[in-house]
Amino acid sequence: MELKGKTVADSLGEQLKARAFACKEKGVTPCLAILIVGSKPDDMYYASAAIKKAQSLGVDTKFVTMAADTSQEDVLKELDILSNDDSVSGILPLMPMPRHIDPEAVRAHINPKKDADCLTDQGYADLFTQKKGAKAPCTPAAVMEILNFYNIPVSGKRAVIIGRSLVVGKPLAMLLLAQNATVTVCHSRTENLARVCREADILIAAIGKAKFVTREFVKESATVIDVGINNDENGNMCGDVDFNDVKDIAGNITPVPGGVGSVTTSVLIRNVIESAESTL
Ligand code: NAP
Repeated sequence: MELKGKTVADSLGEQLKARAFACKEKGVTPCLAILIVGSKPDDMYYASAAIKKAQSLGVDTKFVTMAADTSQEDVLKELDILSNDDSVSGILPLMPMPRHIDPEAVRAHINPKKDADCLTDQGYADLFTQKKGAKAPCTPAAVMEILNFYNIPVSGKRAVIIGRSLVVGKPLAMLLLAQNATVTVCHSRTENLARVCREADILIAAIGKAKFVTREFVKESATVIDVGINNDENGNMCGDVDFNDVKDIAGNITPVPGGVGSVTTSVLIRNVIESAESTL
């Protein structure tokens, strides 16, 4: 089965609209603030998709853009303003920012209660200790939404993640563990990578290398989730998985585009609504 993200996002959207409406009835309109430093096309594309999604679900938006040469001090000041603005429920600074801005400083200036993509230390601590109400970064949370929406068994299953970044691989390992999967996290130093991957009931690729995962990585009937966003040799968007090579051997597979990426903005908006709900 092709695990289409749009179906998941549509279903989530219905629930989120109702929750945003319920917040408004109680006097709080959820609001997402996006901060962009510079004007990278990818950032602009993601921001406009997130704003469109938010507005379609009844969530207000605030879009702050700053020139690429804005000083770190001014960027941090802006984050402090958003962090203290009662009308803002969730903050998303798009990372990475220009080199002269320290990402650690950015993370430290986000109010953890308004941390829309789980970028703060507090956000990670809550996730790793499985604190009630903990949020998760949007991309790994989107992976879990897809697995759960399509009723793919997770508990007791062997999950293998390729990639150990703080944005995807590590938090995803925590989310899978919380649902009782047996989790292996692979990386560039993993020996016999294809053999380890072939043990997976659920194989997740978050590598950043176009079409890296071919059929020899995949056990017959396994579920393959492709987090990657790359360009192929013709400049077309593709994932970390060679979809055409793998689709016959996999039991389930997410496409790129149209898979994980389609669910990410919905999860972002859910995080914003949850922050708003926590203030009611
Ligand atoms: P990242 O920070 O560059 O991490 C890549 C990971 O892949 C690292 O852990 C690296 O291992 C591992 N890796 C690289 N080459 C490998 C190899 N040959 N064999 C095994 N492991 C290898 O990337 P990221 O931010 O996690 O993103 C991963 C992919 O997901 C990218 O394509 C990105 O565009 C995409 N992404 C998608 C979304 C979405 O919404 N769909 C969101 C975020 C990211 P080492 O740690 O050993 O270097």
